[in-house]
Amino acid sequence: MISRIDLRGSAGDPRELLPRAELDIGAALDAVRPICEDVRLRGTEALAELTERFDGVRPPAIRVPRAELDSALAGLDPAVRAALEESIERARRVHAAQRREDTTTRVVPGGTVTERWVPVGRVGLYVPGGRAVYPSSVVMNVVPAQEAGVDSLAVTSPPQAEFGGLPHPTILAACALLGVDEVYAVGGAQAVAMFAYGAGECERADMVTGPGNIWVAAAKRLLKGVIGIDAEAGPTEIAVLADDTADPGYIAADLVSQAEHDTVAASVLVTPSAELADKVETELSARVAATRHRDRVAEALGGRQSGIVLVDDTAHGLAVVDAYAAEHLEVMTADSAGDAAAVRNAGAVFVGPHSPVSLGDYCAGSNHVLPTGGSAVHSAGLSVQTFLRGIHVVTYDRDALAEAAPHVMALAEAEDLPAHGEAVAARVGGASGGAA
Ligand code: NAD
Repeated sequence: MISRIDLRGSAGDPRELLPRAELDIGAALDAVRPICEDVRLRGTEALAELTERFDGVRPPAIRVPRAELDSALAGLDPAVRAALEESIERARRVHAAQRREDTTTRVVPGGTVTERWVPVGRVGLYVPGGRAVYPSSVVMNVVPAQEAGVDSLAVTSPPQAEFGGLPHPTILAACALLGVDEVYAVGGAQAVAMFAYGAGECERADMVTGPGNIWVAAAKRLLKGVIGIDAEAGPTEIAVLADDTADPGYIAADLVSQAEHDTVAASVLVTPSAELADKVETELSARVAATRHRDRVAEALGGRQSGIVLVDDTAHGLAVVDAYAAEHLEVMTADSAGDAAAVRNAGAVFVGPHSPVSLGDYCAGSNHVLPTGGSAVHSAGLSVQTFLRGIHVVTYDRDALAEAAPHVMALAEAEDLPAHGEAVAARVGGASGGAA
């Protein structure tokens, strides 16, 4: 059901050999281009038609009325409410610690550079809701944006036919719990375009963040520049680095837990122990047969993006997981903490037998909107930092400028940009001419 890749004895870059989804982002880009263009040209009319086409429902209005948020919260199961409140509280503690202080560096007497951290003005937050609904993603998007001090914040999520064209009530309730009252019933690429261009009541946003399927990811890639985006957070991935000290039952449970997100979700075990690999496979068969979304899980585990990778030893395993750069990496080895500390590339790392990814999905305090598809080599998950811009504020007095003038002029000459030097000479005199 899950393929095996034997990298034992193979040196060199393993990237080509590792399992990875064959997501045809080119085809997805072609598919979403006309969708985004339609929203740009025809606004809400296009949104209504596209929603009917892709979500099978025509919402009464794209903006969810405030009363619907309140009634969703009133009708929320108390256990789910308590869980969401705990999730919010833990995420708030972790994200509040990410706030940045402005810093001022006195470069020379009379010359300072201050780095001022300013939140993005308006953000659109995407909460998925196709195959599964993700109230947890409301928490993971909204909390860092609020902690960063973002002024204007709107959430969007696909409308659900069974709820009269509104997003899932748990999503609406999570918005209400977090004090978000601008919520839209729009999903997919059209939602990203709505934030990029504005449509009807939805004013254009400066940035869109949040996870989603391949069409959401493609629209973010396409409209990057028109609107700011976070890292590409596409179909979920889990990699587990484990040796023979690990519990095969835990590993199988975790591989299945992420496979249930999507048929293209990736579940990968990297281990030097063929014995552990056999045991995990046995456990997987039993778990898949018993799990609620067994068809989706079986497709994800059987896909070319999932597999069990055999390596020489833990050091080789670390090189392999670094090359893979998983969205989620679990480390369950004899020295989990030491091995986890050596990891360079991962969206988030889960250390030891009692830190499963599903804890991080909901309630660890960490963020679950994380880079996928290998983008963890250069990108990080959602954080307060995502919503902040560091603006350099430069303040020099005349003496400090005069001291720097020869250097500015020398570099201006070297770049054949003499007007640069003249702008300084105009203030302090010097070789580039101009009055003091
Ligand atoms: P989604 O909200 O991302 O997508 C649903 C939308 O896709 C629909 O509203 C529809 O408009 C659009 N769509 C469906 N079929 C289409 C088609 N043929 N052409 C164009 N658009 C189409 O919900 P989903 O599908 O459940 O996907 C959620 C994804 O988010 C999963 O892959 C999950 O693994 C991922 N996820 C990732 C993270 C992360 O941090 N990386 C976190 C949570 C979820």
